[in-house]
Amino acid sequence: MNKPFSIAIHGGAGTILREQMTPELEVSIRADLKKSVRAGHRILAQGGDALDAVVEAVKVLEDSPHFNAGKGSVLTNKEMVEMDASVMHGKEMEAGAVAGVKHIKNPIELARDVMTNSKHVLLIGEGAEEFAFTQGYEYTEQDYFYTDRRYEQLQSMKAKGQFALSESKYPDDEKHGTVGAVALDQQGNLAAATSTGGITNKQYGRVGDSALIGAGTFAKNGNVAISTTGMGEYFIRQNVACDVAARMRYLKEEIGSACEAVIQGDLKQMGGEGGLIAVDSQGQLHFSLNSTGMYRAGVDPQGNIEVKIYSDEI
Ligand code: ASP
Repeated sequence: MNKPFSIAIHGGAGTILREQMTPELEVSIRADLKKSVRAGHRILAQGGDALDAVVEAVKVLEDSPHFNAGKGSVLTNKEMVEMDASVMHGKEMEAGAVAGVKHIKNPIELARDVMTNSKHVLLIGEGAEEFAFTQGYEYTEQDYFYTDRRYEQLQSMKAKGQFALSESKYPDDEKHGTVGAVALDQQGNLAAATSTGGITNKQYGRVGDSALIGAGTFAKNGNVAISTTGMGEYFIRQNVACDVAARMRYLKEEIGSACEAVIQGDLKQMGGEGGLIAVDSQGQLHFSLNSTGMYRAGVDPQGNIEVKIYSDEI
């Protein structure tokens, strides 16, 4: 019998409202989600490694202006892009991450190279970029990441002195647009990847959960792979990804109850808005969110594809 494999991706959770969404934008966002999940699934179907699949899926989202990662990243209070990313492979629990990078087109690839080609797990800022250039990465100008939409969001938030807009011009202005992917491959390996521009108007130098193994990204074979999205400060304090994995290991909870206990329970009570995607060692997928929406898609072990945005989509 063929070994199960499956993949899930997200393009961020938060306030995503139907009444503010245009049909054209929704079609375009759903198309990018499908393109991403298919790119990762193709690798798994060919017998490829779960880590290659999640990195490939995340790269598609980093290259799209619709999501807050790579191209389309939000701006800091200094009107710059500063990106965080991390990966984890569940076989040996190897991991790599970067924080505060400004000139790397696909931070998720650099996170994987930190895992594979350095002795470290997390590199930041200039040091991360210097490492990238020794690995042959091109210097990408800030102009590449810059979009009018993100500039307008920043000005609006600056005027209010906030990190999130109360009135929004775009349907997902209050969405935490991080992207991520989790996968189980045919060898039984679990892997997770997360990439983000962080939150609009963040203090420059701020690092969120997406760079942190255990908070934003986690994978352990035989257990679970997780990628989170939401207001990172809460996800770090709650150690969200690791907490779900621990519930499954120690309390023997199923993937669904472990995810819901954390996202709808402890995290929500603390005031943490957001969600996560997860896959267990049998390939069962779970999407959990406590916000009005989360851009998400998956292909389950039976090959069924789903693409969803709002919390009430069954
Ligand atoms: N978790 C990310 C951060 O706090 C934001 C997001 O999910 O969009 O940096």
